[in-house]
Amino acid sequence: MDHGIAYRQQVKLHEACGVCGGYAQDQPLAFLTCFALYALQHRGQESAGIVAGPGEGRKVWIKKGMGLVSEVFPDSADLKGVVSKLAIGHVRYSYGQEGRNPENTQPLKLRYRYGELAVAHNGHLLNALELRAELEDQGAIFQTDTDSELLAHMVARQGSELLEDALAEVVPRLKGAFAFIVTDGRKVVGLRDGYGFRPLSLGALNGGGYFLASETCAFDTIQATFIRDLAPGEMVILDAAGVKSRQVIAPKHSRLCIFEYIYFARPDSNLQGRNVHLVRRELGRRLAREHPVEADIVSGVPDSSIAAASGFAEEAGLPYEMSLVKNRYIGRTFIKPTQKMREEGVDLKLNAVQKIVEGKRVVLVDDSIVRGTTSLKLIAIMRRAGAREVHLRISSPPVIGSCYYGIDIPDAKDLIAYNRSPAEIPTLVGADSVGYLSLEEACTAVGLPGSELCSGCFNGYYPVLP
Ligand code: AMP
Repeated sequence: MDHGIAYRQQVKLHEACGVCGGYAQDQPLAFLTCFALYALQHRGQESAGIVAGPGEGRKVWIKKGMGLVSEVFPDSADLKGVVSKLAIGHVRYSYGQEGRNPENTQPLKLRYRYGELAVAHNGHLLNALELRAELEDQGAIFQTDTDSELLAHMVARQGSELLEDALAEVVPRLKGAFAFIVTDGRKVVGLRDGYGFRPLSLGALNGGGYFLASETCAFDTIQATFIRDLAPGEMVILDAAGVKSRQVIAPKHSRLCIFEYIYFARPDSNLQGRNVHLVRRELGRRLAREHPVEADIVSGVPDSSIAAASGFAEEAGLPYEMSLVKNRYIGRTFIKPTQKMREEGVDLKLNAVQKIVEGKRVVLVDDSIVRGTTSLKLIAIMRRAGAREVHLRISSPPVIGSCYYGIDIPDAKDLIAYNRSPAEIPTLVGADSVGYLSLEEACTAVGLPGSELCSGCFNGYYPVLP
C-alpha cells in the first residue's frame, strides 16, 4: 500500500448528521434555519452551523462551531438581523477521532469561480477515498476530511455556472448514502442518493418559500407545512422562481434505513408518511406477541424505547411503569472512546426507581443491543434496585453488522450478537431472558416490505458496498 493511500484511509470520516435549508423572499431564513437545527439536534451534537445569503450570489454569511445549537447560536434572535433569502444548516454527529476536529464542522464554505459554495451533508460516501485520491492526483488541496469538501471540488471542476447542472453531472459518480443541501448564494439545492438511505423532505414555509429538512419535526418547529419526501435520486432546486425538481440519479429500489424508525429519528417525525412514534409502538406490540413472558411490569429505557415499551405493555396487558430515570444533563454514552468510559456513562445517565422495581418481575424494553454495554449495566442497576427478574425485550433484531451508510455502529467484532446465537445473549448481559423482534415483524410494523428498507446491520444485506 502506498503511503498516500494509507494516510487517506486513516482520515476517512464517519458521520451521521442532520441537514436543512430553504429559500424565501420575505422570511428570516437564518433564524428559521436555527430553529430547524434545534429540532434536528438529536441527529448530531458535535457541531452546528448555518450559512445564509441575500439570494443574489453575493458573499454569504456563515457561523458555525463545536457544540450544541444553543452553544453555537446563544442569541438566536440576533439571526433575524442576518439578511437572508436563503440559508442552509447542519448538525453533526461524528464517530471517528477526526470527526471531533473543529475543521470538519459544516456547512463547509468555499470560494469557486462563480462565487461561493456551501455544502451540508448527511450520510456516508463509500467511494470518497478513491474520488479524493483522484482529485489529489490532479493537485487538489483539501482542508477537511468531509464528503462535503469532496462534492464542492467536484462541482467546481465540472465547470457549469448553473449549480444544478454541475451537481447533476457529478452526483451520479457518488457511491453510498447521502442527503446533501448545497447553496451557491443564489439558490438552495437538495439531493438524495439513488436508494434514499437517508431521509430528506420538502416543506412550504408559512408566508411563502420552501424548506428542506432531514426530518419533518423541523417543519413543525418553524410552522412549515410538509409537502413530500424527496424521491431517491431526486434533486430539488429552491430559488426565486419557487421549486423545481430533477431526477439526477436513476432511482433504484427505495431503501430508507430501518434504524431511522427504530432508534435515530425523532418520534414526532414522519418518514415516508409513517409516524415514528406509532411505528415504535407497533414494534413493541409485535415484540410482546413474539416474545411473551410472565411479568409484573413493563418499562422502557428512556427516551428512545418508551414508545415500544408502551406498545408491549398494551399488548401484554401489563402495567407500564417508569423503572428508569434518565439524567437529562449527561451527554451521549454511545460514542465514548473506551469500554470503561461507556460503562460509567450508563451509571451516570440512568438510575432505577427502587420503589417501583423492588420484588418485581420486570420486562425491560430497549430499542437495540449493539455492543451490549447498556444492557449489561441496566440489568445490574435493576437488580441492585431489587428486581426479582429482568426480562430484556428488544424492539429490533440482533445487530450483526456495521453500517456503511452513516449510522454509528461499531465493527462486527465489537457487536455482542456477531457470530453468536440469541440464546447466548441472556448470560452475557445477565438477564433472565432476552427476546429480539424478528426482521419480518419489524418491517411489518414499519409498514414496508423488507425490499424497500435497508436492514444491512440486521441481515448483512447491503444494497451497495465499498
Ligand atoms: P450498546 O450499549 O452498545 O449495546 O448500545 C445500545 C444502546 O445504545 C441502546 O440503548 C440504544 O438505544 C442506543 N443506540 C443504538 N444505536 C445507537 C447509535 N447509532 N448511536 C447512539 N446510540 C445508539
